[in-house]
Amino acid sequence: MSGKTLILGIESTAHTFGVAIIDENFTVLADERSTLDVPLGSGIHPQKAAEHHAQNACRLITSALKKANISPDKLSGIAYSAGPGLGPALRVGATTARALSLLFKKPIYAIHHAIGHIELAIKLTKSTDPLVVLVSGGHTAITAFSDGKWRIYGETLDITLGNLIDQFARELGLPFPGGPHVESLAKKSQNYIPLPYTVKGNNVMYSGLLTHVISLASKHKLEDLCYSLQETAFSMLVEAVERALVQLDKKEIVLTGGVASNSRLQEMLSQMAEIHGVKVLVSPKKYNPDNGVQIAIVGLYLHKHNLSVPVEKAIVKQRWRLDEVDIPWRM
Ligand code: ATP
Repeated sequence: MSGKTLILGIESTAHTFGVAIIDENFTVLADERSTLDVPLGSGIHPQKAAEHHAQNACRLITSALKKANISPDKLSGIAYSAGPGLGPALRVGATTARALSLLFKKPIYAIHHAIGHIELAIKLTKSTDPLVVLVSGGHTAITAFSDGKWRIYGETLDITLGNLIDQFARELGLPFPGGPHVESLAKKSQNYIPLPYTVKGNNVMYSGLLTHVISLASKHKLEDLCYSLQETAFSMLVEAVERALVQLDKKEIVLTGGVASNSRLQEMLSQMAEIHGVKVLVSPKKYNPDNGVQIAIVGLYLHKHNLSVPVEKAIVKQRWRLDEVDIPWRM
């Protein structure tokens, strides 16, 4: 076995229950995941997500320990997603983590889910001082590290980019998650339909765009709507990122979160970055959506800083901004 420190990470903020085990060299020894099946025409129902997680937690933990070839008493600590996310889903992860912590007398680490996305992406892309663009179902944030925290330099003022795409997809009869379906349909069109474009400073607003594009559903071809939605929503984001980039004078952009897998978004961001001589680094597709590795990696950082929480305080926070979190491992 490589290294002595072993952290088990549990992810349960939304649709996915993930369990990963990593060692002190950041080797991924296990990465088990199960994702809720969302029926057509529906979104993630918090209670259904919680039921899914409860049904799969034990199996995934057992399987992760088996894959890593370790017994639970060899773990150095348990890290869990403490928020933000869906309350019932989060509580399954937290309860599981507390049970493991008490049973095997291991320290417990409460992780901010978005910090997990960010830190894993940075590790995997080997970036040093990036502007991070986090685009997922729960986040649309342009962030950079400064003075002990990940500071927000731009964000959505209403719904997230992932939410925009998923809600549009649901209304238009596409399966969940909508992103991959919208992306492949968009590739079949180059017919741009003008849509509302709202950028305020470094921030974007997507709810007006969503309402408008849905209202056009009966008047246009689905692929034209998908294409136009992507072009508009991504242009807005790229404009906001460009402004933050110029203000901060960063040399690298790290793109992460589920929507980061979109090739058109990657292309648009890269075209803008190239003008400024900036590199765009995208975390490997496998690690863009929610997973236990992102939680375990932050757990490892907290473990090195002895920042566990007492088990009775290992609770969840449905609402929790990423710029509230202290980041002692970055100087
Ligand atoms: P968070 O991680 O902030 O809690 P989440 O759990 O919903 O939110 P992820 O699993 O990181 O987030 O991302 C899911 C989102 O990514 C969904 O909105 C999904 O539609 C979107 N997505 C996945 N693949 C693509 C793609 N190819 N193009 C656009 N969006 C995509």
